[in-house]
This record gives sequence, C-alpha cells and structure tokens, in this order.
Amino acid sequence: MGEELKQKLFNNKEDGWDSTNEKQREEIFNLSEQYMNFLNVAKTEREFIKEAKKMADAHGFKDIMEFNTLRPGDKIYFINRQKSMYLAIIGENTIEEGMHIIGSHVDSPRLDLKPNPLYEDTGLAYLKTHYYGGIKKYQWTTIPLSMHGVIVKANGEKIEINIGEDENDPIFTITDLLPHLAQEQMEKKLKNGVEGENLNLLIGSIPLGDKKVSERVKLNILSILNKKYGITEADLTSSEIELVPAFKARTLGLDGSLVAAYGQDDKVCACTSLFAMMELENVKNTAICILSDKEEIGSMGNTGMESHMFDFFISEILNKLGVNRPNLLDKVFCFSKMLSSDVDAGFDPIYASVSDKHNAGFLGKGISLNKYTGSRGKSGASDANAEYVAWVRNVLEKNKILYQIAELGKVDVGGGGTIAYIIANKGADVIDCGVPVLSMHAPYEVTSKYDVYSAYKTYKAFWEE
Ligand code: MN
Ligand code: MN
Repeated sequence: MGEELKQKLFNNKEDGWDSTNEKQREEIFNLSEQYMNFLNVAKTEREFIKEAKKMADAHGFKDIMEFNTLRPGDKIYFINRQKSMYLAIIGENTIEEGMHIIGSHVDSPRLDLKPNPLYEDTGLAYLKTHYYGGIKKYQWTTIPLSMHGVIVKANGEKIEINIGEDENDPIFTITDLLPHLAQEQMEKKLKNGVEGENLNLLIGSIPLGDKKVSERVKLNILSILNKKYGITEADLTSSEIELVPAFKARTLGLDGSLVAAYGQDDKVCACTSLFAMMELENVKNTAICILSDKEEIGSMGNTGMESHMFDFFISEILNKLGVNRPNLLDKVFCFSKMLSSDVDAGFDPIYASVSDKHNAGFLGKGISLNKYTGSRGKSGASDANAEYVAWVRNVLEKNKILYQIAELGKVDVGGGGTIAYIIANKGADVIDCGVPVLSMHAPYEVTSKYDVYSAYKTYKAFWEE
C-alpha cells in the first residue's frame, strides 16, 4: 500500500541510464563520439560556423542569397560575419502560423589578445590578454593553451591562425607563482589571487641579432611571425585571436558515461541542435536553428542575438516566400515557439550548498528546462508561461523523452541569463532548455552523454512537432 499510489502521484526524477537498453546505449555513445569530434575542430565561434557550414552544405542546405523564391521543404542558411549562423527549413504550414526556433550560442569563455599584445620582459616574450566572458581567472594559469583566430591586414588579406592543436605544434601557457613564494597571494580572496592584468601568455625566450639592439626576444617573435604569415606588429591590431585550452574532448569515467571538454557551454546545445536539424525532412512549421555569438558578453554587437541580423534573415524568408507585408514579421514572431537551448548548472554534490536539490538539474536525468533564469527575485528573466511549459512537456512526454525542470542555483545565491529574453521580447513563447554541466565556464567542463543524447532527441521532437 502506498508504493503504487506514489508511482502515480509523485513527480519521480529517474536516472536516464536505468531506462536504456544495449542498443540505446550504443546510440548514446555514438552521438557523443560525433559530438566530441566536432568539438575538437570547433573550439571558437568562427571554427564552429565553418564546420556547421560544411555540414549544412553536405545535407542540402544553401545560402539564402542564392534563392529568388522559397517554398516548403527548402533548406537555407545565412552566415553573419563568419561568427553566427541561422539555418531554416521552410515548413508546410504558412509561416504566419509561427516558426519553431531553437537558439544556442557558439562563443565560450576564453582569453582574447589585446590590440597591442606583444611585449618583452627580462628575456621572455609575452602576449597580453583580456578575458572574454565570466571566468575564474586562476583556472586559466598553468594549463596548455592554443591560439585560434584571424589576422586581417590593412589590404584585406585574411590569415587564419591555429597553433597548439596539432601534436607537433608548440603550446602556450600563463605562469603562476610557486607555492614557496605565494604566501601573500594565498591570503588574497580567490577572485583576486590572479589579476586579470597578469593573464599574460608566455610565447618565447630566444633573442635575435646584435646585442646592442633592445627587445631582441620580441624581435625574434616578430621575425618568426613575419616569415610564417608575412605580418608586422601593426597587423596584430586588426586581429581576433583567442586563447583556448589545448586539450581535446575526452570520455570521462571508468564507465565512459561523461564528456570532458572545453566550450561545452554552449556548444553542446549548438551541436545537438545542428545535428538534429540535419536529420529533418518535411517539417510542418518552419524550423529555425540559431547559432549565435557574443552570448557570454551580453549578446550585444552585430553578431550577437540583440542585433537586427536575425530579423533581417526572417524578413528575407518572408520576402522570398512572396508573402511579406507591413508588420508580418511581428506577427510571425508572436506566433512562434522557441527553445532557448543553453546549458544549465548541473547539481554538483561537492558544492551542494549553492543549489536547491528539489529544483536543480542533475547529470544523467535528461534535458533540463529552466522556466526562468535571472537572479535576485527573477530579475532580468524571461519567465515562460505555464501554458507554454505545458505544451513543451506534452511534446517531451509523448516522445518519451526524460526531462527535468530546474532553477540555476538557490534563491539569492546567484543566477544567469541566456538569449531567451531577446526572442521572448519579440513576442515568441520561449523556454530555456539545455544540458546540465559541471564546472561551467572552466577550461574543462563536464556533461553526461545521456543528457547530450536527450538534448538531441528533444530538439528533433520540437522541430518535428
Ligand atoms: Mn551559455
Ligand atoms: Mn555561459
């Protein structure tokens, strides 16, 4: 007595692995393999978009600019300045019935080079950095870092940089103080232990030329760069070079259940939604996949979600469908539904005190929905309507997809945000929906392969609805 009633009435949070059979586990592991391979060639937003374009091209997607008219079934994309991308499959229903949008971001916390980065001090050459996004600075010292990005010369010639990923490449690092002399540092607050201004990357130590010349180590570095890329120091001022962890995405755990990798926020949702979109055929409502940039620094700028570039893309679709008229864009957004696919803070038993166990996202328990984010009394949150949460639940439940509904941390402990509010402000129904992550924003983040698979299933089901 009681057990049966409990089964019926309680909202049981099951472990996803319990309900998987041999065949499903194989599917789960295969998907994660594909995901990890993608991460290893797409550590930055530019690399992600490049790989996404390759994949889209191979699956019959074309640049929207190649079309004069669009019709149901057409697969299109638009790439915004190599750093963000929108993909679409035109649905069978009229677009006025609304779109089904899934939006993630492909930028991740990292260190960017300053515009005047190179200097020499006591025989060592360094590159100065300015961190991008919310990082715990101490985590970025004494790890191997690789250099990714572009240098654009004044004449427009663009040089792509990728150093430190190949086993034969050199890597770079930021040094830290030895414990023997760190007495004063260790007394500091953790956030001040490593100063942002001290995140300087060690890149060389051999001097070049006549001893009477000053800054000979810097000179040697510039000489190497000049030989390899034909650039001078001034060319670094028109560059975007990012330092990211040089380690590869790896399977974590004796049971092989987890993924450890850099940049899983939010490439885990970006990858799984992109993979799901590649599998779609004949959708009812127009399916949109957003891969946005600049989320980690507030979504501003012309590649961020706040930009009008996305509206432009949808307007182009309306124009090329031959249906556009004044204010139709607003109407389309008002009838659209969106999953803001961004990661959730996974419950970490070592740091249990920051979470409410009843309202946390757990690794291995499936996709995690956040009805709202924000902090201090939901401030700044896009709070999904109960009606919409019910609609999403229904999609998940009828497709037998395990899900959990969580908050990011305990009340008043902190909080976070995503691109959800931006599309919600246009009038669409939006809920945050992503994979729980441990060590979010650290150089090495952890996810569950079960949840990666669950995200893929969720995104596919949402678009197929
Ligand atoms: Mn994110
Ligand atoms: Mn983030």
